[in-house]
Amino acid sequence: MAFGFFFDNARCTGCKTCEMACKDYRDLGPEATFRRVIDYEGGTWNAPSGTETAVPENVFAYHLSLACNHCGDPACTHVCPTGAMHKDDQGLVWPDERKCIGCGYCTMACPYHAPFIDQRLKKSSKCDGCRARLAEGLAPVCVEACPVRALDYGDPAELVVRHPGAVRSILPLPAEDATWPNLFILPSPAAALAAEAGGHIANREEI
Ligand code: SF4
Ligand code: SF4
Ligand code: SF4
Repeated sequence: MAFGFFFDNARCTGCKTCEMACKDYRDLGPEATFRRVIDYEGGTWNAPSGTETAVPENVFAYHLSLACNHCGDPACTHVCPTGAMHKDDQGLVWPDERKCIGCGYCTMACPYHAPFIDQRLKKSSKCDGCRARLAEGLAPVCVEACPVRALDYGDPAELVVRHPGAVRSILPLPAEDATWPNLFILPSPAAALAAEAGGHIANREEI
């Protein structure tokens, strides 16, 4: 089986309720997060001349809510020397605490920066897709918490049918063939502008 997330890039307001709901549910401290909301922006505008005011040209800003993508070809599992980081039979990728030696290889290999070393336990930690809730037939907390219903989850084959037009990468994410992420994004018009002109992460300190 496989598991993935859907994200509506046009709908997301960047409120970070998903991120906070996850932190609350998983009891994460201020320095740890399983889901992050990236603010991405760019573009240029004409300088005003005479009595004119500034005229926006192709200025854009959008948000991207990102957790682990439970990838089709997970870089994290390939480098783990103990088999702690693994994909289970539900398609969820997560580190087995009993096997993890805290070497940090998975944190370096993941191009989405999903895993991190929990400094209290000295072990890898990351989004596990809320596997305990899934087992009870409940939605992941982040999906349930989003006030504008920008997130969805489930079998990737069903996600692409429910959300036609979804792609697997927009800026600033790596190309999809890096790990074949099970992340399906409905791009906003702003993402198309970014693809042409490039941009920058505006909240790097925060994520
Ligand atoms: S997003 Fe990173 S941690 Fe998650 S499965 Fe993919 S490579 Fe592994
Ligand atoms: S930190 Fe743990 S899960 Fe990550 S590569 Fe090392 S042993 Fe594997
Ligand atoms: S699926 Fe669960 S653990 Fe993963 S980001 Fe969402 S709330 Fe956090």
